[in-house]
Amino acid sequence: MHKGKEEVLRKIREKADQLGLKFDRKIFVASFLTKKEVNILNYLAGSPAYDKKFGKPGQQRAKNFEKFLLSNDLIKIDSKGLAVQKRYILSYIKLLNDPKHKSMIEKLAKKIRPNSMGYSPIVKASKQKISEDSFDVMFHEWMHTLFNYNRLGFYNTGDNRWKYNEGMTVFAEYYLGNYYGRDVGFLKERIEWTKKHGAKTTFEKNLKYVDMFIKLIEAETKPSKRRTALFKFFKELPAPAAARQWPKAILPKKRLSQ
Ligand SMILES: [Zn+2]
Repeated sequence: MHKGKEEVLRKIREKADQLGLKFDRKIFVASFLTKKEVNILNYLAGSPAYDKKFGKPGQQRAKNFEKFLLSNDLIKIDSKGLAVQKRYILSYIKLLNDPKHKSMIEKLAKKIRPNSMGYSPIVKASKQKISEDSFDVMFHEWMHTLFNYNRLGFYNTGDNRWKYNEGMTVFAEYYLGNYYGRDVGFLKERIEWTKKHGAKTTFEKNLKYVDMFIKLIEAETKPSKRRTALFKFFKELPAPAAARQWPKAILPKKRLSQ
């Protein structure tokens, strides 16, 4: 199947209908950056992949920015994209001490195109050619954008809802079929595989969060009910400090589906 922006948008619209969400094509913009740039933004935006080595987003990540730039992670970690608030990235300027770093962030922020909500979906790609893979990433980042537009799940970039947003997004991509033909069955197989063999990649590590949304939504047949279940889930998440713990303990007490 030919992959392209229109095909991705068509699928996002379908997802919005399936989940009872609002859709407006104007908010789906994209910025294409290099791997290094994407990694820097992921670091600043609060990707949990950097928690252990460089601490929490905000003060700690700012303090360790130099260390991150000199580390292998800058080029080794292969994140494909992210969706971030430009404002949040710019807020690092006042946290950083080194003028070199400040201007680096300013320059990087200029390459980010925000939508009308100040939110920027970013895809790793070369300027010359947007590969098929890049459209897969675009699909993922635009699913985040759809949820963000509907004010579902998110607080801010850098908060500890990251993994829940990620779980919801990956679930929703596959639910009732993603745009290249895989569905929740594929996720379930991966979940079982990970239970046996352990989670290594970021995708595998996030599967326990994906599983929560499969259990929450899969049995719902009406878009409005799916929407309500998602909102209820996030409304019932306890204080942010608890949100990074093993998710089972903080599943909503009363599930809307079996
Ligand atoms: Zn994501």
